[in-house]
Amino acid sequence: MDTQILSGKTVSSAVYDGLTSRINTLKTKGITPGLAVLLVGEDPASQVYVNSKTKKFSELDLFSETLRLPVETSEDDLISHIHILNSDKRFNGILVQLPLPKHIDSDKILNTISPEKDVDGFNPVNLGNLTAGKPTFIPCTPKGIMRILSHYDIDLSGKHVVVVGRSNIVGRPISILTSLKSPMANATVTICHSGTKDIFQFTRQADAVILALGYPEFLKGDHIKEGAVVIDVGINRLEDNSDKGYKLVGDGEETSLKEKASALTPVPGGVGPMTIAMLVENTVEAAERSL
Ligand code: NDP
Repeated sequence: MDTQILSGKTVSSAVYDGLTSRINTLKTKGITPGLAVLLVGEDPASQVYVNSKTKKFSELDLFSETLRLPVETSEDDLISHIHILNSDKRFNGILVQLPLPKHIDSDKILNTISPEKDVDGFNPVNLGNLTAGKPTFIPCTPKGIMRILSHYDIDLSGKHVVVVGRSNIVGRPISILTSLKSPMANATVTICHSGTKDIFQFTRQADAVILALGYPEFLKGDHIKEGAVVIDVGINRLEDNSDKGYKLVGDGEETSLKEKASALTPVPGGVGPMTIAMLVENTVEAAERSL
């Protein structure tokens, strides 16, 4: 099949172009959108994610600062840091890099971030607004998925969307976004997870499948219907014989999916670049709302 490749690189660069004039307007008013990042511990993947986020902020001449805290940081100490950042006017957005060490209750931490600075959209106030159909800050990855779909004019209205995964970061919010009565959404949505019996009976009925489970090459061409759209959020390392010793693959098996899917996000270069673009956009939005 002639599968359309939905490029997050293309869409994210359109997002950055669109943000330039908004950033310039803010700067003429004396505001440089600023992001505070809190990183607890030395998890290598988290370090990579944080570095790529702050690198983008500096490329765009935006302000960001990373507070690196030792792994033994207590929950109370982390909460104190967030309180200080909540009232620091240099920062329009605050991001706590997940996962946190096990002795820290992530929900309590996300609850401490001021909803006005919660550019990741994980605070219960923002998640509640999203669920009520009045989104304030939308979590970056699901927001990025919706942006890819609208960029490529893929309208989900009246379609059956199957989401695999129900995390608060991706699966749950994208299932809500796609089901909202709003342009390009308005879909009938099924959420599958580790408790679902025979996931593929659902994916085979779907007009669009959104994969967010973190299981390499889980979905194959045989598991979708002809012409389905596949959005692959997964980022997994598969060991191979290359110099790096691994390759990155999604939750879908690209080769067999391309035989049946009408459109597909690649891994890497699909949803990934959108997550950072939406973080920048949410931070710019937070700065605009602070005027
Ligand atoms: P989580 O581990 O938090 O959630 C995974 C979800 O998938 C859970 O709901 C889990 O079910 C479900 N699940 C796991 N294995 C299976 C299975 N075999 N069958 C059915 N359901 C299953 O992951 P995240 O949502 O944080 O991330 C998902 C993937 O997306 C990961 O690969 C991650 O790296 C990637 N990711 C990519 C981003 C990007 O920018 N591109 C951003 C964020 C994540 P249950 O609830 O029952 O445990």
